Amino acid sequence: MTENKPNLMSGMRPTGPLHLGNLLGALSNWVNLQDEYYCHFMLAEWHSLMSEYQNPDRVREYSHEVALDWLAAGIDPEKSVIYRQTDVPEIPELTLIFANLVTLGRLERIPTYKEAMRELKTKEISTYGFLGYPVLQAADILIFRAEAVPVGEDQDFHLELTREIARRFNTLYGRTLPEPETLHTTTARIHGTDRRKMSKSYGNCIYLKSDQKEIEKVVLTAITDEKRVKKSDPGRPDVCVVYAWWKLFESDEGRIKDVHDWCTGAKKGCVECKKLCSASIAMFVFPIREKRKEFEAHPERVEEILVEGSRKARKEAAETMAAVREAIKLG
Ligand code: SF4
Repeated sequence: MTENKPNLMSGMRPTGPLHLGNLLGALSNWVNLQDEYYCHFMLAEWHSLMSEYQNPDRVREYSHEVALDWLAAGIDPEKSVIYRQTDVPEIPELTLIFANLVTLGRLERIPTYKEAMRELKTKEISTYGFLGYPVLQAADILIFRAEAVPVGEDQDFHLELTREIARRFNTLYGRTLPEPETLHTTTARIHGTDRRKMSKSYGNCIYLKSDQKEIEKVVLTAITDEKRVKKSDPGRPDVCVVYAWWKLFESDEGRIKDVHDWCTGAKKGCVECKKLCSASIAMFVFPIREKRKEFEAHPERVEEILVEGSRKARKEAAETMAAVREAIKLG
């Protein structure tokens, strides 16, 4: 805890630049949490390596891209600790200790593990490392003795495991670690061009760094109302991905009503509607894109922020490890 604010920890696996789904699903929320919590935001490079170990050469580059998007969206290094997981060696050290406190069966039963195995079929991830990634995640959180962790619903299982590990540790060695609370916040779910959840692995994303032309190129591929074949066919905005984007990114309520009217009244075609929607999205991401450009022009500044973040993170992590080692009588 610092400045009387409770510790909060969260992170992202760097897989390249961030998209609108990342912004609305997590990042905007993080920006708001910075006033209430002492936030630790981690670039989870070890987690990336677990699926990319055969081709790790782009992990660091992706990390830089994610850092650019974080800073551009309003993650403030004056308020929060921003760091690379690989710069804090205390995290894998704690993982090693935690590995003794979880059974293989418990890890195999975590639903997201089975899901990931299905989704990443093309990668050889039936490894010891990948099975253990929730243990690494527990160390990511507990190394800062975080009291709060903002998570999506699908991460609930991992946080439950983190609490179990903390409880087991405290029972065996004496009370040392907190049991972090899940911070459920309302976030918008955003569809990609194909109506599935917006996700890099589906290739259906609009990126925060895109300009209007790039956004338009993506938006033009979006699924609309399949029953609307000709411009003269009335549309059903409620089944259309583009209308969902209008509602999320257009600030003028009257304009959203206009879209509904021109769609149901067959007054505009989908191509025109998509182009107008692209302009609205471009306006929404404009401040982020502009700020990102400033950081892009000064990569050394971004590096300084990460080095300073890692320094702060290591200081806290070393304190936790001292307490942990003392508890297990290996201090
Ligand atoms: S007019 Fe716009 S809202 Fe209606 S179906 Fe076409 S793209 Fe979607």
